[in-house]
This record gives sequence, C-alpha cells and structure tokens, in this order.
Amino acid sequence: MQALWLENNLISLRDVSKPNKPNEALIKIRKAGICSTDLELVKGYYPYTGILGHEFVGEVMDAPDKTWIGARVVGEINAVCGACEACLNGRPTHCENRTVLGIVNRDGVFAEYTTLPLANLHRVPDSVPDEMAVFTEPLAAALEIQQQIQIKPTDRVLLVGAGRLGQLIAQTLALTGCDLRVVARHPHQQSLLTARGIRLITEGDIQSRRWDVVVEATGSPDGFNLARKAIRPRGTMVLKSTYKGEMNVDFSSIVVDEITLLGSRCGPFEPALRLLEKREVDPGVLIAGQYKLNDSLKAFEKASQTGILKILLEA
Ligand SMILES: [Zn+2]
Ligand SMILES: [Zn+2]
Repeated sequence: MQALWLENNLISLRDVSKPNKPNEALIKIRKAGICSTDLELVKGYYPYTGILGHEFVGEVMDAPDKTWIGARVVGEINAVCGACEACLNGRPTHCENRTVLGIVNRDGVFAEYTTLPLANLHRVPDSVPDEMAVFTEPLAAALEIQQQIQIKPTDRVLLVGAGRLGQLIAQTLALTGCDLRVVARHPHQQSLLTARGIRLITEGDIQSRRWDVVVEATGSPDGFNLARKAIRPRGTMVLKSTYKGEMNVDFSSIVVDEITLLGSRCGPFEPALRLLEKREVDPGVLIAGQYKLNDSLKAFEKASQTGILKILLEA
C-alpha cells in the first residue's frame, strides 16, 4: 500500500506492506487531517521514523471482534498496555508503555490502511460526515481543557492563538458561556471567529493581570509571554501547545502570583462526537484543501504555509 513515510526530517511516498496485526482492527482510511504536530515532527521536534498522521476517520475492514467490521470509526491515538501504574489508576493517556499513532513507535494514518486496538475506536454517528468526523481527535484535545478545569460563566477567558487547534478551542470555550476573547493574527482566522459571534481582542487591548483563565495555543515564547502578562494572580494558564526548544520563564513571579500552570493534551472522544452530531461546533470551516494521498507532498507544502488551517488527505 501507499504511505507517507517520515525519516531523517524528510517525508516521501513509499510502497509499504499492508499492516497485519491480528489483535488489532484493520482500518481503511477514508480521510486524514494534517495537524501542526505532523509539521513539527517533520522539523524534528521528536525523533520519529515511520508513517505519519494521527487524525483520521476510517472503516473497519477486519477485527478480532467481527461485529466491528464495516463500522465507520475514529480512533484515540494512545495505544496503552492496561497494566502499568498509570493505566491501572485511570490515566491511560499517560501509560508508561504507550505507543502513539503516527508519533511514537506506531505507524500512522497517512496511508491506505492503519491498525489500532479495538479499545481505541469510537463509532461515528451516521449523521456526521467524514469531513467533520476527521476533526474528532483535535476537537477532543480542545475539550480536554474543560475536562481539566471548570470554566465558570463569569470567568474572563483569553485565548492566545487561533490556528488549527485554537479555532476548535475557541468554538468549544464559547459553548461555556464564559466571557471569551481571542487573539487571532490572520484575517481569515479572525473572520471565522467573528462569523460565530466569538469576540476578538488585539494584543494592545489586553489588560495585564486581569484574566481568570488564559489558554496559550501558539506554542511560541511570544504567545507564552502574552499569556503570562494577561493572567491575574491565582489565575490558571492552560498550555495547549508544545514549545520548540527551551523556554525562558520567570518562575519566581509565578510563585509570587500563585499562578496555576496546566499542561493539556489529548481529550475525550465521545463528547467530541456528541458536539459534532448536534452541530454545536463546526470544524468544517477550517478546511483549506483536500488532496489525494499520492499528492501528500503537495498537501504538506500547502499545510506549512502561514495562515493555512486544515488540509485533508484521502486515499
Ligand atoms: Zn494532531
Ligand atoms: Zn500502561
């Protein structure tokens, strides 16, 4: 089968053998999404060799439990051992022996087929089209914030960054009824937000030390510094992006201001699917292009242009 292979910071299309893991579901990929993590992996943020990609919707072709065959599914990206301390204590996304789809020791979804344990799969409701279902994973990641902290309707919440993930975070935070403002740099990102009634704020208008919750979704030192400036004493900073290299942070001021720093990664799939089914979020507006798998090098080129949101791949 055809697959997009990453090795030594280079991506190439390769002919590889169809995966064969009898204990897992064999999934035919219907659509896959390119996310910022994929672009970072190509740049070498984490050493990974293999098939890239972790956001997908597909169809089960074979499985240890035959009742799954033919199901349209999305899949959680952490494949876990079920036996380590993290797994046994209800923290499976922190499994010490985990492999991660297209990220850590597990071939991903920019291919005709992939495999995942059945425990990772979620059936997609019939009314949710592929173009929306493919956003389940990043939408779940956006919802992880609300899984971790309570956002009160009276909270003043600032979101820094309105890229691929930032847009989904904005849409999900808006559902809480909190007083939300978003820092968005690109005109297109801004118009997608204002079209949903989500309010913007310019960097210059952000009051220092006033915001109850600040979500940092840029993964840049500038974004972090802006978030740090905005958060009020005893406020919570949610860090939603990884940072390249090391960060220079004044930790004494974080102690003095009693700031809570909260790292936030993978989130719950079922609530994400419910929001898609009820059309309470609309990730489809992020789609900036769809490419065939054999055009995936072009797709990556497009995805790395500034301001481009979601690029989809299909076999
Ligand atoms: Zn991703
Ligand atoms: Zn484990």
